[in-house]
Amino acid sequence: MTYLISACLLGTPCRYDGASREMPEAIRALLGKHILIPVCPEILGGLPTPRPPAERQPDGRTVNRNGEDVTDAYLRGAKEVVRLARLYHADGVILRDRSPSCGTNGIYDGSFCGRLTDGMGVTAALLHAEGIPIFSEDGPFPT
Ligand code: SF4
Repeated sequence: MTYLISACLLGTPCRYDGASREMPEAIRALLGKHILIPVCPEILGGLPTPRPPAERQPDGRTVNRNGEDVTDAYLRGAKEVVRLARLYHADGVILRDRSPSCGTNGIYDGSFCGRLTDGMGVTAALLHAEGIPIFSEDGPFPT
């Protein structure tokens, strides 16, 4: 099976702060079974690394900590991930939790106070709306 995956879950230093995180063991285990193609929607949307952290707002916009509206870049990245998922005939997309792009099981509430709320990141929501299966980094994973 072929899956797109949030690039930072494979250790790519594409997070907003430019840091990399160790690959989770569960993700490492998937590497032996499936083709995993890394994508970072925020970079695909044209944003630099590092970049100011951003959060989705209750009004639907995405705004960074400096107050800049980055909605267009987030949408551009989301559409590119949908395009790539279709191009590769991907069986789904595995996504990093709590990200304003990739989050599937809750995101930060837009206040930059570290509070979580229900909802998905921009890319996760668009993939879901387009009928492309999405999987949280916490599983359950594809078999
Ligand atoms: Fe990782 Fe997604 Fe954030 Fe890129 S946009 S750093 S892939 S969580």
